[in-house]
Amino acid sequence: AKRIETRDLNIFYGDFRAVADVSIDIEPRSVTAFIGPSGCGKSTVLRTLNRMHEVIPGAHVEGQVLLDGDDLYAPEVDPVLVRRQVGMVFQRANPFPTMSIRENVLAGIRLNNRRISKSEADDIVEQNLRGANLWNEVKDRLDAPGSGLSGGQQQRLCIARATAVRPDVLLMDEPCSALDPISTLAIEDLIEELKSDYTIVIVTHNMQQASRVSDRTAFFNIAGTGKPGRLIEYDDTR
Ligand code: ADP
Ligand code: ADP
Repeated sequence: AKRIETRDLNIFYGDFRAVADVSIDIEPRSVTAFIGPSGCGKSTVLRTLNRMHEVIPGAHVEGQVLLDGDDLYAPEVDPVLVRRQVGMVFQRANPFPTMSIRENVLAGIRLNNRRISKSEADDIVEQNLRGANLWNEVKDRLDAPGSGLSGGQQQRLCIARATAVRPDVLLMDEPCSALDPISTLAIEDLIEELKSDYTIVIVTHNMQQASRVSDRTAFFNIAGTGKPGRLIEYDDTR
């Protein structure tokens, strides 16, 4: 787990400044919730923490993002490496539908072209599915497609896929918003457990969820139409 910081982050889509002057400092092994109304820039800030915004045409960033003090935007830094260090879990659980449960866990590692033996792969699959509290539910059908799982199971599978590349930071963009209440609680419990190994940032618009899972809360707001989102409060949750 590593510390992730932003300094005076301003994020633009073309000429539109979506987010203004965001400075946050997120400690290793903690959970920070980004909360605020729709459109205030929560996802926008989250995406800049692993340079995911770079896939959006016209998006650009001023300011700094530091991982244990290292500038993630320095010219020599490889964005692919950044995405390995800072993993992302999306709102809609999106296991690769044609891949088996097993292949889904290994997908990130394969993309990184790491050579692994069959037994190491078995190990990685089991450890990460255990880590995502999914192993007992799927161990007898690892070769079945990931798309056959329930929504909550699919989200845990995506978490296993994200942890398998061994990131330092896990970003989660509304990981529960497509889930029923029981599955939501399972993910919240899992976040609590993952905290001992990762620095976690979760975007949510659910205040109760923020108070259940986070150590610190970053409140964003927008002053009016066309205005950029700003950080209006940044404090310990409890
Ligand atoms: P939130 O996650 O808080 O709902 P977003 O980060 O999605 O907010 O959006 C912040 C602002 O940036 C909004 O005004 C939104 O319309 C705009 N925005 C988000 N994504 C894009 C994009 N790909 N292109 C242009 N504008 C965008
Ligand atoms: P390290 O160099 O950090 O000790 P290794 O690559 O030597 O890590 O692996 C140590 C052990 O962890 C091995 O048993 C290996 O199979 C297992 N392992 C490797 N990668 C992962 C992973 N992504 N998730 C879970 N276990 C892994």
